[in-house]
Amino acid sequence: MNSFKDIDNEYVLGTYGRFDVEIARGSGSEVYDVNGKRYIDMGSGIGVTVFGICDKEWTEAVSAQLNTLQHMSNLYYTEPCAQLAKLLCNKTGMKKVFFCNSGAEANECAIKTARKYAAEKKGSEYSTIITLKNSFHGRTITTLSATGQDKFHEHFMPLTEGFDYADANDFEGLVKVIEKNKTAAVMMEIVQGEGGVIALNEDFVNKTAQYCTDNDILLIIDEVQTGNGRTGKLYAYMNYGINPDIVTTAKGLGGGLPLGAILFSDKCKDTLKKGEHGSTFGGNPVCCAGAISIISRLDDKFLDEVKQKSKLVFESLENEKGIESVSGMGLMIGIKTTKNALDVVKECNEKGVLCLTAKDKVRLLPALNISVEVLKEALDIIKSVCAN
Ligand SMILES: *Cc1c(COP(=O)(O)O)cnc(C)c1O
Repeated sequence: MNSFKDIDNEYVLGTYGRFDVEIARGSGSEVYDVNGKRYIDMGSGIGVTVFGICDKEWTEAVSAQLNTLQHMSNLYYTEPCAQLAKLLCNKTGMKKVFFCNSGAEANECAIKTARKYAAEKKGSEYSTIITLKNSFHGRTITTLSATGQDKFHEHFMPLTEGFDYADANDFEGLVKVIEKNKTAAVMMEIVQGEGGVIALNEDFVNKTAQYCTDNDILLIIDEVQTGNGRTGKLYAYMNYGINPDIVTTAKGLGGGLPLGAILFSDKCKDTLKKGEHGSTFGGNPVCCAGAISIISRLDDKFLDEVKQKSKLVFESLENEKGIESVSGMGLMIGIKTTKNALDVVKECNEKGVLCLTAKDKVRLLPALNISVEVLKEALDIIKSVCAN
């Protein structure tokens, strides 16, 4: 068979703990390794392939654009970028969009915006961004600084200054941290993904949003993992009825092509001006064409199906042998297993199911259009692995 594992191990930087699986191709929620073994994909490339592998409508949209215009610089207007920005604004009520290529870059742009906004409104000393402990916001030096987990900081000090951290779900504690600093913005995930798939309390989120509004502190919601239909709403904050000032997203946005976006509310839609930010590939026509095919299909009917499947997953897994608890929202699910999570994932791989970990949990992020039949098949295998 055409094995490329050894070549990879020799030539690709060893930053990933790769599983011993060589994926060759796929279709929907099923992927096949180089030997033709079938796996059910319960990770979707870490929440990226929203409509699965090589979804027909997505592939056609991307191919058509690929055969029309694959790239132009941002010195010129291109249609997919314009249409995607309009679509995102119409569906969210946000006013403007900046496109980049990844989640970390989206958060970088949000941080730049918040600092400039606060400097203009209150003075340049108002530069601190408050994030939550146990959060994850990216791997650049600045987004590592934003990430409230020491283990990601190790080896890379000094990180960017001007970040402080508060406990999730402790509103009074958050206010203390905000007031101790000259605060520009609060940034948080609605469901902490890498932190173990933990949803924030509604009360905490609502109080935080109100406090930020009252004190003209920007509220940045990091929807890199929770966004684009994952939680059963287009963006997870919509489950809580708040209006963030800035929303960042990436992962699933392009459906499998690198694309990030920052959505700006009326308050800060004109903060960054000509020459103050940019990205060579940002708004790339092929990536945006893929994203239009994803975002335009995330309507109420489709999102209701996501919620139904979420219910099915929770009901299927809760109170099962070897499963201590199930957390998350929509099709973003964390499973606290009696057995070591990584061992569960490895055993699932052997039995033909690909899933992820998040801290000490097994994490599931299936394609949102996974069929109920295939979903049940995967859950049965996961349960059998957890039980013995
Ligand atoms: C994955 C992730 C990021 C980083 O995204 P990249 O595209 O890998 O840079 C940032 N924030 C959250 C919440 C994420 O899940």
